[in-house]
Amino acid sequence: MENTSENKYSFKVVLLGEGCVGKTSLVLRYVEDKFNKKHITTLQASFLTKKINYNGNRIHLNIWDTAGQERFHALGPIYYRSSNGAILVYDVTDEGSFQKVKNWVRELKMMLGSDIVLAIAGNKIDLQKDIIVPLETAESYAESVGAKHFETSAKNNIGVEELFLELTNMMIASH
Ligand code: GDP
Ligand code: MG
Repeated sequence: MENTSENKYSFKVVLLGEGCVGKTSLVLRYVEDKFNKKHITTLQASFLTKKINYNGNRIHLNIWDTAGQERFHALGPIYYRSSNGAILVYDVTDEGSFQKVKNWVRELKMMLGSDIVLAIAGNKIDLQKDIIVPLETAESYAESVGAKHFETSAKNNIGVEELFLELTNMMIASH
C-alpha cells in the first residue's frame, strides 16, 4: 500500500563563521555540487533551497548564507532569527576561526535559547599538513555545547552531504 502518511518539513538553516572559512563553498557544494577556487562574495539569492527525501519525509532546506557581512562584524539577529539549525564553520588551518565559532555559539544560545540545532564544521580538511585545530579539541568543545562536529572539505567533497543530512536528522528529531 502506498505510504500516505508522509511528513513535510520546511527548515531554515543558517551558516555562520569567519570570512573565508568556506561557508559559501559548502553551500554550493551541497546544493549544486560545484566548487570555485575564488572567494565568492555573493550568492544570487539570500538563501538557496534544497529539496530532499529523507526517511519518508519530504524536506525543504532553506539554506541561508551570508553576503560577507561577517567581515564587518555586521551580522545581526535578523539573519539567524527563526532558524531551525545553524552550521558554524571554521577552517581547520586557522585557529582564530575556531575561536570565532565559540563566539557564535554563545551569541546563538543567548539570543535563541536551546531551541536551535547546532552543527560545527571543521572545513578544508584536504589541507592535511596544515591542520592546526586538533580534532579532539574541536569534538570535545562541540560535545560540551550540545553540538555535533563534522570534518569537511568543500573542495574534495568530503563530509558535506553527511553534514547537511545529519543536521536535518537532528532538526526532525527536535521538531
Ligand atoms: P566564506 O567567506 O566563508 O563564504 O568562504 P568561501 O566559500 O568564499 O571560500 C573562501 C576560500 O576558501 C575560497 O578561495 C575557496 O575556494 C576556499 N575553500 C573553501 N572550501 C575549501 C576547502 O574545503 N578546501 C580548500 N582547500 N579550500 C577551500
Ligand atoms: Mg561567503
